[in-house]
Amino acid sequence: MLIAASRVVTPTRVLAPGWLRLSGSRIVEVGAGPPPDPPDITLEGTVAPGFVDMHVHGGGGASFDTGTAKAADTVARAHLAHGTTSMVASLVTDTHDVMTGAIRELSLLVADGLLVGIHLEGPWLSPHRSGAHQPGSLSDPDPAAVEALLTAGGGAVRMVTLAPELPGGLAAVRQLVQAGVVVGIGHTDATYDIARRSLDAGASVGTHLFNAMRPLHHREPGPVGALLDSEADVELIADGVHLHPAVLRTALRAKPGRSVLVTDAMAAAAAADGDYRLGQMAVEVRGGVARLAGQGAIAGSTLTMDAAVRFCVHEAGIDLLDVITAATTTPARVLGLTEVGALEPGRLADLVVLDDELHVLRVMRRGAWQV
Ligand SMILES: [Zn+2]
Repeated sequence: MLIAASRVVTPTRVLAPGWLRLSGSRIVEVGAGPPPDPPDITLEGTVAPGFVDMHVHGGGGASFDTGTAKAADTVARAHLAHGTTSMVASLVTDTHDVMTGAIRELSLLVADGLLVGIHLEGPWLSPHRSGAHQPGSLSDPDPAAVEALLTAGGGAVRMVTLAPELPGGLAAVRQLVQAGVVVGIGHTDATYDIARRSLDAGASVGTHLFNAMRPLHHREPGPVGALLDSEADVELIADGVHLHPAVLRTALRAKPGRSVLVTDAMAAAAAADGDYRLGQMAVEVRGGVARLAGQGAIAGSTLTMDAAVRFCVHEAGIDLLDVITAATTTPARVLGLTEVGALEPGRLADLVVLDDELHVLRVMRRGAWQV
């Protein structure tokens, strides 16, 4: 199949116009200018790689933390319609038994290819920065508990977010990295020094940078300072609620090729306002903003990745290529996914087609149109 388009976003530049040749589920050629043969389809719009979301809890009214295949399918479909073709299932803090059960069920969907992995956000988080995580289920990491959750996933746990300042925190970072798991520091009250030591121990991601972590102070830069002044990759929630556009712009500028757009979406993403649950916590969604019931703390987002891309380009004024990279190529690299995240020969044909306002027109996954 030969596809011609007004714009094709490659890892290094936007081809305008450009074309792609697909064979089955793969991209075999990408070129600039008019297509070499009469195209099978001509798209008025921008063709980008399908989005890769490495931090998402739910959408379409459903949540991964219920652990059922039906819920996971609803979440995946809801985000697929908004351009996300690869997603990690993020689990919020819950009891050991609930988390173990959800990990076991979701690991089957990782094996099936619906999900690219599982992300454990907790239970090893700071009680001082717990956000929407159930305080009673937070714990300090110990090697046996870490081992038990990883074993439940049988290799499907791709990422863990933890607070490195907890007793046993740095040892847990080493244990996880040794097991091939990507470690994000987040929901953390770490000092600069401890955050720095966790990066030296192998932690490589800042989970939703700025949110739910000790803020940057010019004499005690905390985790934000350690993450910005390092080779770490950083997640950013570009919904206009979690981060001011100036902060978003500054972070992307400080971290070219190391910034990752994530949705951190909960069940209300691509669904209506109302009363929801995030793990055991009651969440009220009003005007698209999710907050813990009666408390006001932000409880995830209702973001979809296309909306994050629009916000970055239209509200924060960030260059389209940098934004698309942060929504595709960079998260694919962070997760070790070599088959998706870029429009390059040899990769899977996962595409999103955006109109001039960056709304989703069509979505292809593995060479088949889904939307
Ligand atoms: Zn979080």
